[in-house]
Amino acid sequence: MLLAILPLLLLAQSEPTNAIAPGVWMREGDLKSYGHCNNAIIEMKDYLLVVDANFPSGAKAMQTEIPALSKKPIRYVILTHHHGDHAYGNALWTRAGVTTVGHKALVQEMQRYEPKRWQEESGKRDDVKAIAASTLEPPKELFDKSPRVFEDSTRRVEVWNFGWGHTKGDAYIWLPKEGILIAGDAIVNGPYNYTGDSHLANWIKILSKVEKQWKPTKIIPGHGKSGGAEMLRSQIEFFEAMQKSVATQVKAGATKDSLKSPDLPANLKPWAGDGIKAQLTNFFEEATTSKPAGSRIP
Ligand SMILES: [Zn+2]
Repeated sequence: MLLAILPLLLLAQSEPTNAIAPGVWMREGDLKSYGHCNNAIIEMKDYLLVVDANFPSGAKAMQTEIPALSKKPIRYVILTHHHGDHAYGNALWTRAGVTTVGHKALVQEMQRYEPKRWQEESGKRDDVKAIAASTLEPPKELFDKSPRVFEDSTRRVEVWNFGWGHTKGDAYIWLPKEGILIAGDAIVNGPYNYTGDSHLANWIKILSKVEKQWKPTKIIPGHGKSGGAEMLRSQIEFFEAMQKSVATQVKAGATKDSLKSPDLPANLKPWAGDGIKAQLTNFFEEATTSKPAGSRIP
């Protein structure tokens, strides 16, 4: 009995679920051990919304854990974008009778990057391999016009796409009454930015617009701890510092290989991690070609 319970306890410890507001939870994915993203669980009057499908192992864990939060049925999984840690669990949600929802451009992104990435992950991850499919399952319900709204007498949830930022199919989930923003990897809390599929200049503009227009007070990031308005400010300032530094270096004749990380103020240092070299390269590509970093794949 103890042996059977122990792995669950360990899993619960490394991937805690915390209430952000009444009926809104964040499940903090363990990126290092499992490659998982963060998820949000939102309680409506008669059902639950989940944000992001996670990898299959994360989807399975959530399907086990969520009934302890609320007995209401999970009706929708809203996808923030097409990346594996956010969307590769899709098929498991469909099998559980849940409708996966994504922006139309998410499917276009899948067509650009898949089935290559799915097949690579299948070779590395047993949970992806166990789905026994040749590629990622596209979301079952697509929306084109923003916002796609979920609303009842208890809550309003808006799902917006603002064009090409982190990816072309980014969804920003906004709870106006609660001031909560869930933005997938468009906002991360710490050294988790991935810029390889992005339009960096546009991404910064979108985040600045979101900050001004909504003034979110609580943010559930794609990776890292939950936080407030300061997280969004730091994400914007980190990107602006990178963009500015690369522009200055390019003007001084820097090449891709000679690029140096900017001297960041203390509050932005947590955003600089192992990925910073790749991020600098992506900023360099945009600065020197005037094309989005993610446009190298047609
Ligand atoms: Zn991502």
